[in-house]
Amino acid sequence: VAEAMKPHVAVLPSPGMGHIIPLFELAKRLVIHHGFRVSFLVITTEASAAQNQLLRSPTLPSDLNVVDLPPVDVSDLVSDDMPVLNHLCVIVQESLRPLRSVLVNLNRPKALVIDLFCTQAFEVCRELSIPTYSFFTASTALFAFSLYLPTLDREVEGEFVDLPEPVQVPGCKAIRTEDLLDQVRNRKIDEYKWYLLHVSRLPMAAGIFANTWDDFEPVSLRALRLNPFFQNIPTPPVHAIGPLIKEDEPVTESDTEILTWLDKQPSDSVLFVALGSGGTLSCEQFTELAWGLEMSQQRFILVARTPTDASASAAFFNVGSDVNDPVAYLPEGFVKRTEGVGLVVPSWAPQVAILRHPSTGGFLSHCGWNSTLESVVHGVPIIAWPLYSEQRMNATMLTEEVGVAMKPVGGPGKKMIGRKEIERVVRLVMEGEEGKVMRRRATELQESAQKALNDGGSSCDSLSRDTCVNYNLSCMTKRRELQ
Ligand code: UDP
Repeated sequence: VAEAMKPHVAVLPSPGMGHIIPLFELAKRLVIHHGFRVSFLVITTEASAAQNQLLRSPTLPSDLNVVDLPPVDVSDLVSDDMPVLNHLCVIVQESLRPLRSVLVNLNRPKALVIDLFCTQAFEVCRELSIPTYSFFTASTALFAFSLYLPTLDREVEGEFVDLPEPVQVPGCKAIRTEDLLDQVRNRKIDEYKWYLLHVSRLPMAAGIFANTWDDFEPVSLRALRLNPFFQNIPTPPVHAIGPLIKEDEPVTESDTEILTWLDKQPSDSVLFVALGSGGTLSCEQFTELAWGLEMSQQRFILVARTPTDASASAAFFNVGSDVNDPVAYLPEGFVKRTEGVGLVVPSWAPQVAILRHPSTGGFLSHCGWNSTLESVVHGVPIIAWPLYSEQRMNATMLTEEVGVAMKPVGGPGKKMIGRKEIERVVRLVMEGEEGKVMRRRATELQESAQKALNDGGSSCDSLSRDTCVNYNLSCMTKRRELQ
C-alpha cells in the first residue's frame, strides 16, 4: 500500500506497563499485519528502563510512530500516599488537555484507540469526528462488570462488599464479594469515583477491543454479544482480538544471563516468581516467600523488589528505578544456600522470554491480566498470588473455571501466607499430579489461543474484518444509537 494511502490511526494507553504493553502490541499488529500507520501517544511519566527499552527500540517498524504528549506538572495535584489509580487518572486528565491540537497536528487520524482511563478523549474526538475505540486491558468478565457498574451504583444501597450474595452481572459468572476489585470496595473514596466515571463512559466507544478469545472467556463474551443493549446499557460491539501479548522482547545483557541459565535446567523444572510491574510484598511476607521457595527445593527465578509495608502496588510508578540489592532483604545466607538452584533478579526480568522457555514449568504470579495471558499462551500453570486491583477475580477464574491455577491458603484472617504453605503449593505445582493436570489444561489453551490468532481464527478475523474494514461504519451506527 502506498504510504499516503495507508490508514492512519492513533493509540493512547494510560501510563504503566500493564497498559502500555498490550496497546503497543495492538499498534504493532495494525502496522505489520493490517497495513496501518500508527501514532502511539505516550503520556509522559518518569519512564522505567523497561518502558524505554520497549518504546525506544531502534527496530520498530517505520510506520509506528511514538509521540510523546507534552509533560505536565502534577506536583500540586498528587501526593506520595495517593492510591495508584487516583494518581494515574490525574496525570491522564492533565496530559490530555492538549489532545485536540495533538490530533489536529497529526492530521486527524482515522480512528483513536484509547485505554479505559483516557475517556476524556471521547468528547475531543467527537468534536473532530474521529471514531474512538476502547481497548480493555483486563478480562472480559471485568469488562461486563464495569459496564454494569453504573446500574449497580444506582440500584444497590450501601457497600457492594457487604452484600449477602455474590454480585450477579446478568449472563455472567457471579463474583464473590471478597473477589471484587479494590476500586469498588469502598464507594465513598476517590478511587471508586474515578473508576465509575470512566466505566460509565464506555458506551460512548465505537467498539470495544477485548484482550481475550472466544474459548477462554465464552460466558462473558456471549453475555455481551447477545444483544446490543446489554441490560439496557447501549453496548458497543465487542471484538475479542486476543490474546495480544508482548512477542519479541528486547533482551539486555543481564537478560541473556538469565536465559543462558535457563538453557541449562531440565524441561518444566523452573518456577518463575514475579508480581507484575508494580507488585510488592510486605517485609514479613517476602521473608516467608523466600523460605518457602528454599524449602520446596525446586528450581526458581525470583524477581525481587524491595519489600514495603506501604502498599501492594508500591512499585507502580517507579518500577525499574527500584535498583535494589536483594541480599539486603533476603533471609541471611539465602543466595548462598540456593546457589545453582535459584536465581534472584532485582526489579524486572524478561517475563515473556522466561515463560516461553521450555525449562519454565510454573509461574507464581499476581494474576494481572497480561501475566495471565502470557502464562496461558505459553502453557505454564500458575500459583495464584493476587495482590491488588481485579487480580482476585482473575485468580478465582483461573483456579475454579479455567483449571490452570492453584491458590495458596492464607493464615488466620487470610493475610499472611506461611512458608510451609508456600512449600506445599510449589511442590504440588512443580512435581505433583495436580501440576501435571494443570499443565495439560494450559497446553490445551495454548493451542486454542494460537488457533484464535492464526489466519482465519476468531481473534484474527475480529481485528481485520469487524474492526479494520468497518471502523467508520460501526462508529456511525453507534452514534445513531446514542442520538
Ligand atoms: N513484566 C515483565 N517483567 C517483570 C514484571 C512484569 O516483563 O519483571 C511485564 C509482564 O510480562 C506483563 C506486564 O509487565 O506484560 C505486567 O502486566 P500485568 O497485567 O500482568 O500486571 P500489572 O503490572 O498491570 O499489575
